[in-house]
Amino acid sequence: MKKLIVAIDGPVGSGKSTVARRVAELLGYTHLDSGAMYRGVAWKALRDGVPLDSPEQLAALAEAVRIDLVPLDGKLRVILDGEDITDSIRTPEVSHAASVVAVVPGVRHPMVAEQRRAGAQGGIVMEGRDIGSVVFPHADLKIFLEASPEVRAERRLLELKEKGEPLAFDQVLADVHQRDRRDREREMSPLVRAADAVVVDNTAMDAEETARVIVMCAREKAEKLVTGNS
Ligand code: C5P
Repeated sequence: MKKLIVAIDGPVGSGKSTVARRVAELLGYTHLDSGAMYRGVAWKALRDGVPLDSPEQLAALAEAVRIDLVPLDGKLRVILDGEDITDSIRTPEVSHAASVVAVVPGVRHPMVAEQRRAGAQGGIVMEGRDIGSVVFPHADLKIFLEASPEVRAERRLLELKEKGEPLAFDQVLADVHQRDRRDREREMSPLVRAADAVVVDNTAMDAEETARVIVMCAREKAEKLVTGNS
């Protein structure tokens, strides 16, 4: 059966990472978390003291950096210039910086080029904000994941709590709204639902149910491609 390009886009906390990982596992595909790449650039900028308001310096950093996403024990390790930074890129500080560096065109260009290279052969589940709209506008299957802001904030809260970084709900909700706004309103590659994307609202579904719905869509699509009924 044809190996598809599955694009999963959606706002912060919509469950993209968990769902995309599981979809890839069920289909036997590669999982690529494009957000981890923007987080990697942000992490390096913070560590090296590169000002977040200097598009030129951020672009130079993004051009020079090497980010590898390596599957290990069912999860992706993020390796930046040979250093494993997986456990350092999910902090509120890096989350904020990632959504700042992601508005810089000179940062997006090399990241998108790398994402296209990684997915060119198909058999990939790629998640992000602009996968179905910009990175792979001809993806075989486009999913737009949604959930209410409150449920998304709850999920983030739980994630932070598990890592021993408890925050107040109101603060996390405010952060969700702020990152939504920045992702949706930026000029280049804003978070939009591609016209041909399937919307999956998982406010009342867990990750496993959501993944299974998407896998069903993928199998249906792959069959249609074989029979020529796409
Ligand atoms: O998905 P995640 O929250 O890890 O992404 C971190 C940040 O990277 C997002 O807030 C968003 O601003 C940016 N991003 C992006 N385009 C993508 C993936 C992530 O702009 N394809």
